[in-house]
Amino acid sequence: MCGIVGYTGPKEAYPIIITGLKRLEYRGYDSTGVALLNSGLKVYKKKGRVADLEETLVGVNLHANTGIGHTRWATHGEPSDRNAHPHTSASGKLAMIHNGIIENYAQIKKELVNKGYTFTSDTDTEVLLNFIEDIRSNNNCDLEEAVRVALKRITGAYCILLIDEDDPETIIAARKGSPLVIGVGKGEHFLGSDASPMLEYTKEVVYVNDYELAIVKPNELILKN
Ligand code: GLU
Repeated sequence: MCGIVGYTGPKEAYPIIITGLKRLEYRGYDSTGVALLNSGLKVYKKKGRVADLEETLVGVNLHANTGIGHTRWATHGEPSDRNAHPHTSASGKLAMIHNGIIENYAQIKKELVNKGYTFTSDTDTEVLLNFIEDIRSNNNCDLEEAVRVALKRITGAYCILLIDEDDPETIIAARKGSPLVIGVGKGEHFLGSDASPMLEYTKEVVYVNDYELAIVKPNELILKN
């Protein structure tokens, strides 16, 4: 089991995410990464410990008010920098982290490769991400609808957190079979595999149910079936 953390609100996202990932280390992992929305999407990821990633980021401008972070337990593709999460979509606009396994990823990957998609990792996660992006561009729908349509085709277990460079205060989250907790603060929200990354900030937590989709903004939390 890996760990996921997310934050959107007025605080600096990076320290909250890194501290949260350290609290989730007990779950076991082989690599780690963060995606930050900071006048554009920035992704930093690496095989190894959370502290190793932190070290490589000393001196980097990590200012951002929205971000997601991941500790990976490899199931599809060896532990490596390129297979670490977050993954970035083909357009470079979306970043996603995923806990779980997409069982029918090979079929979906084949369809995307036939359409001309190339992949930079061996993960099932990157397949789901590009599948979501492909649905969004073909159907001209919003990201939430594309996620909903994509997840209907998916078999397996997942908790995903997704961010979009063009919507820098929103995190879209969904789960089936992998845990997801959302902490509600004042004008801010925290996301985690368990409540440990958010307990110092809020005692108000919501446990997301299987098949629920969460649209998370600083001042708004919408849960939909
Ligand atoms: N199946 C994904 C991968 O191998 C996610 C694994 C996890 O839950 O950390 O990258």
